[in-house]
Amino acid sequence: MPVDATDDVAKAAHAARTLTDLVAAMRGCTACAGLAAQRRSVVVGDFPERRPRLMLVGEAPGAQEDATGRPFVGRAGQLLDALLAEAGLDRASVAVANVVKCRPPNNRPPTRREAKQCSGWLDRQVALVDPALVVTLGGTALAWALGPGTRLRDARGVVHAWRDRRLIATYHPSAAIRFGPNGEPMAALRADLHRVREVLCSS
Ligand code: URA
Repeated sequence: MPVDATDDVAKAAHAARTLTDLVAAMRGCTACAGLAAQRRSVVVGDFPERRPRLMLVGEAPGAQEDATGRPFVGRAGQLLDALLAEAGLDRASVAVANVVKCRPPNNRPPTRREAKQCSGWLDRQVALVDPALVVTLGGTALAWALGPGTRLRDARGVVHAWRDRRLIATYHPSAAIRFGPNGEPMAALRADLHRVREVLCSS
């Protein structure tokens, strides 16, 4: 079935019974015609075969993600991998997805409309993957999970009860890069990923 409107996304996502079916439906999506026309890949996410307990949610693919078809493989991804390893978390056993699956041109942030259109896919990914803990990276993912008015400074530092699972909100690695190694986002992201490890170990 063609998927070219928010309602269609929600219906097609709901109809998918497995991640494989869901990925096939996502690859044909043209709900955001402008993004679909320019994309090289629909960056569906990384999903380890063994059910992951942790799912990270970012914003949208950048140029390298679009070129390779995989999430978080550019500079932000390299930093993320390093901070995950430092916290004792293995990226290969973590699910990684974005709110928006197609690259916005010139790395602009996705519009609210694009985020809304695409979020039906992500909602279904969370339901099918069923991770114990979801971590949102940055404002777009935070808005998807806790609503558009939510501020990171209010949501950080707490383990939220969310959709029958737990959720931690932290900075996007791009913010950590932008503010540099001594900036608040780097320290916070590092501390939050350590907290993630503690939460996973204690459950
Ligand atoms: N930033 C994101 O939010 N997601 C990616 O996959 C890469 C960069």
